[in-house]
Amino acid sequence: MGIIVQKFGGTSVADPQKIHNVANAVIKEKKNGNDVIVVVSAMGHTTDYLIKLAKEVTQNPDSREMDMLLSTGEQVSIALLAMAIQQHGYKAISMNGQQVGIITENIHSKARIVDIKTDKLNKYLKEENIIVVAGFQGVTPDGEITTLGRGGSDTSAVAIAAALKADRCDIYTDVEGVYATDPRIVPNIKKTDVISYEEMLELARVGANVLHPRSVETAKQFNVPLRVRSSFNLDNLGTLIIGVENMEIYKPVAGVAADSSQVRILLSGLPDQPGTAAKVFGALAKNHISVDMIIQSLALNGTNSIAFTVDADDLNNTVNILNQVKNEINTNEILIDKNIAKVSIVGAGMVDRPGIAADMFRALAENNINIKMISTSEIKISCLVEKENANSAIKALCKEFGLESTETAVVKGDLPNL
Ligand code: ADP
Ligand code: ASP
Ligand code: MG
Repeated sequence: MGIIVQKFGGTSVADPQKIHNVANAVIKEKKNGNDVIVVVSAMGHTTDYLIKLAKEVTQNPDSREMDMLLSTGEQVSIALLAMAIQQHGYKAISMNGQQVGIITENIHSKARIVDIKTDKLNKYLKEENIIVVAGFQGVTPDGEITTLGRGGSDTSAVAIAAALKADRCDIYTDVEGVYATDPRIVPNIKKTDVISYEEMLELARVGANVLHPRSVETAKQFNVPLRVRSSFNLDNLGTLIIGVENMEIYKPVAGVAADSSQVRILLSGLPDQPGTAAKVFGALAKNHISVDMIIQSLALNGTNSIAFTVDADDLNNTVNILNQVKNEINTNEILIDKNIAKVSIVGAGMVDRPGIAADMFRALAENNINIKMISTSEIKISCLVEKENANSAIKALCKEFGLESTETAVVKGDLPNL
């Protein structure tokens, strides 16, 4: 007996039959004597379809209106799932973010949750309802609808689990758990039974989109026991994500991921004097633009250059801002490189093992893959490569670090076209 939060992604609720399968999985937990809250994503490719629709109306949609539009996807699936559960003879009620009181910051398209009201959730649970909550959305204190960023339903689920002090949060998806890399790229890849919050967080941040990074951040902060498991094979317990204190051994490399969603910007001919970097990155920060990798070259003849990466979605804004500060920083050139992918290896066991970085660079070199930029943290090494080399880099690194398996991973990602 406890509180269980379940989350089902888009593939799991892609059609009416699958919605009934989800209803069965939810009822199974309820029959075990648990209070159940289910968070769902929009059906199948709905969010992609809505984005495409908006782009057909205007190339530059307003972010408030985009949130109004995208939040409708989840409202469809919650109502349908609540109906399916009721059809199976159980009490169910659907709630959108505003009805629950999922309060977020006042930022559109990537808002963070700041508070979750639990009074209505507790009331409906007490009345024996299965509660079906719309993922990915929230509301500002002023009543404006917001969304949490692509893949954000994972974060909705974990945040609700944290707010209700749930016993478990199970993220059901179209693969059997967390693998050492995306099984769509390397099908014969090892599955991970247990991984630490820290490693999972790094993996999610560098492109393992099986979990939204902020969901892992929230699970770590509030110590929510988190599982990633398959909605098509309910008997498989998938992957458990837990705190460091419970880990016995760390592998040097737990996983490999790639992120092709960034662009690189090069500012050359900058004066080698204090304040240049502060002006560039200060202006970007003021406009909420996150910068990832940064390299400043050695000064030559009193000038140097700075290269950095940002999200491709932020490119237009970044260039506008750089043009505004161009005269202040005296750069003679702003170059843009869209042909990049960041390939990373992650593992808590790589701390103090310099050989791991050398092995990574050698494996890439042996596959004739050129490295454009490198960045490291305690448990992660990232290399920027050309986009077309990303998959072969992942394959080479999985081989190099012994992450391949003799078994082929099961992926159920066959989605209907909406
Ligand atoms: P959902 O709609 O259920 O949220 P997502 O598409 O967001 O599903 O996440 C599941 C997908 O994540 C898988 O189909 C897989 O292709 C991808 N993925 C990327 N990296 C990994 C990884 N390391 N382990 C498992 N799946 C991964
Ligand atoms: N529907 C949203 C998306 O496709 C949120 C989610 O699925 O987690 O990004
Ligand atoms: Mg997802």
